[in-house]
Amino acid sequence: MSKVNFLNVHKSFGDVEVLKGINLTVEPSKVVCLIGPSGSGKSTLLRCVNHLETATAGAILVDGQMMGYNVRGDRLVEASEAEINKRREDVGMVFQSFNLFGHMSALENVMFGPMRLKKISRSVAREQAVALLTKVGLGDRLENYPSQLSGGQQQRVAIARALAMEPKVMLFDEPTSALDPELVGEVLEVMRELARSGMTMIVVTHEMSFAREVADEVVFMDGGVIVERGEPEALLSNPQHERTRSFLSRVA
Ligand code: ADP
Ligand code: MG
Repeated sequence: MSKVNFLNVHKSFGDVEVLKGINLTVEPSKVVCLIGPSGSGKSTLLRCVNHLETATAGAILVDGQMMGYNVRGDRLVEASEAEINKRREDVGMVFQSFNLFGHMSALENVMFGPMRLKKISRSVAREQAVALLTKVGLGDRLENYPSQLSGGQQQRVAIARALAMEPKVMLFDEPTSALDPELVGEVLEVMRELARSGMTMIVVTHEMSFAREVADEVVFMDGGVIVERGEPEALLSNPQHERTRSFLSRVA
């Protein structure tokens, strides 16, 4: 599984700098949970990893390969669209809002990426999709359309769809925030299992019990900087910074 390095990552939208020099290393097979108030830059940071946003300065390396650029001698050269798309295949992303194709069944949603982007045959893609959907507990829902599934089921399809591309790192942006409380657990269980299987994961979440149990490191961001980081128990039970304490007292 991949290692991810954030090297002094800055991102501005116009005059507004929303990431102000993020340095972070996520070792292979480790789980990092990103927490912090709304607007602190968590989603932007994740989106920079697969180049949905382009960092204004600094670099992000996935397995030592820079997203978006190539090194030529001592110069940086922008990667081609094809190279960017290729590197994106290593980075799976799951959003708050599922983003499934509404006109496709669960099975077709999971088969789509491998067939379209990896040129895998329909029969092989189908076999893999059935296995993945079974793994996330939806083996009996293959032919259902998103509108026929609960939010928790849709999010599990979205996870299976991301995994179908055989990513080396998975990014989750508040994957349970849009779910009714009783559906949160089934999605977290799938994520827990994925972590156990050795996937490198960066998870933006407000689920502190998940962070406490699954994360190798918890990172607290505020105002575009990392304020504090540490092992979950230490950071969540004994935060060193006032901003962390105040945030945790509001979400706990
Ligand atoms: P978080 O995920 O922690 O809530 P975001 O990364 O979504 O934070 O946003 C960080 C800041 O960047 C916010 O102030 C937000 O308004 C701003 N922002 C995010 N995306 C854009 C964009 N495409 N254009 C302008 N500002 C943006
Ligand atoms: Mg966000």
